[in-house]
Amino acid sequence: RELTKEEVRQMVKDEDIRFLRVMFTDLLGTIKSVDLPVSQLEKLLDNKIMFDGSSIDGFVRIEESDMYLYPDMSTWLVFPWGAEHGKVARVICSVHNTDGTPFSGDPRNNLKRVLKDMQKLGFKDFNIGPEPEFFLFKLDENGNPTTKVNDQENYFDMEPADRGEDCRRDIVLALEKMGFDVEAAHHEVAPGQHEVDFKYANALEAADNIQTFKLVVKTIAKNYGLHATFMPKPLSGINGSGMHLNMSLFSQDGKNAFYDENDKDQLSQTAYHFLGGLMKHARSFTAICDPIVNSYKRLVPGYEAPVYVAWSTSNRSPLVRIPNDRGMGTRLELRSADPSANPYLAIASVLEAGLDGLRNDLPPVHNIDENIYQMSLAERQEKGIVNLPDTLHNALKDLATDDVIKGSMGEHLYKSFMEAKTREYDSYRQHVSDWERHQYMEQY
Ligand code: GLU
Ligand code: MG
Ligand code: MG
Repeated sequence: RELTKEEVRQMVKDEDIRFLRVMFTDLLGTIKSVDLPVSQLEKLLDNKIMFDGSSIDGFVRIEESDMYLYPDMSTWLVFPWGAEHGKVARVICSVHNTDGTPFSGDPRNNLKRVLKDMQKLGFKDFNIGPEPEFFLFKLDENGNPTTKVNDQENYFDMEPADRGEDCRRDIVLALEKMGFDVEAAHHEVAPGQHEVDFKYANALEAADNIQTFKLVVKTIAKNYGLHATFMPKPLSGINGSGMHLNMSLFSQDGKNAFYDENDKDQLSQTAYHFLGGLMKHARSFTAICDPIVNSYKRLVPGYEAPVYVAWSTSNRSPLVRIPNDRGMGTRLELRSADPSANPYLAIASVLEAGLDGLRNDLPPVHNIDENIYQMSLAERQEKGIVNLPDTLHNALKDLATDDVIKGSMGEHLYKSFMEAKTREYDSYRQHVSDWERHQYMEQY
């Protein structure tokens, strides 16, 4: 709920808030924040906080650099830490141009735009339940992250307690203090790997929650002398970190539009068409949901991450799984997305894909219930199963030809995204790695 100005003033007084942290997210998904002393509260409430947009990745050029932050007062919360210098309240903002219009290069504004299109089709909410995974690594003597996990089942390890587990519990407690409804927190398959699931929320709130979540995880881990990373594949040979997105559309009357008790799988036509859209645009939205070079080292066979474009109600291997829940819990679980994705852009891209399915009555192709990993290439070809892109380069190529998914970003964001990602891939391509020297130095 949006707080009124009066309520905010009262809270600041009652809780003795000293600092206001205003946050927004740049093109690459990095949280940007500015700390304001509480004396700036009235300015903030009046949408008068200005910043230099040309210093933010993918925003604007120097000539048009003045931008304004408009606080979204439904995101107001007080950080449960750092009270020794006075309490800090944070609020997520949207970015506006000097004439007051929303800035189209702000990923959060962009998601709002796509949500409005969805509402025009008669839906109320696009709900997202994210499952972000992350690793906790030890720091070295200089405080830099290592690749050592601290919970490796090591026979000679004399460490009395598992700091990873304690750290995760503290993360959950901090999240709860901040109003998160944590549903599960557990160790993941790989050593040092964890997952915390929180309750689904509408798309905008879910994306905000993901950003807040990352901040909390990193902050608490630091207190434990650990480094938390959302890098999708930090170590070769073990599972990487995904961020499954559980998706459902809700209708105006608050019903789950993916549920139909009369269908053989209890899925509605809306769900089938939405799936059709996801299947059609999967390769191109992968560029946005798995946006870094490293993302593609996770999308390989053998590590519980998807490799093929397919969906199933019974099998865990495909891109989209439909968990057993029905009724209000009916949802599609997209398993490709990883936590390096900008959540605002990622959610907008999968929504746009699904809406394209609805607008054009796309058929839910690629329903495969067998284990695709056990099929031969010939069998896969016969069934028309295609792969997800195998590199960022190939994902970007698909994105460039898909007007629907480009449209999910809008012109400004698409252009900046392509520029930034092409630069990133080029820099990677030009780097000579240890693997190459190891393979070729003696052979040639
Ligand atoms: N860590 C796996 C991945 O990379 C997912 C494991 C799971 O099913 O939660 O997607
Ligand atoms: Mg998991
Ligand atoms: Mg999952």
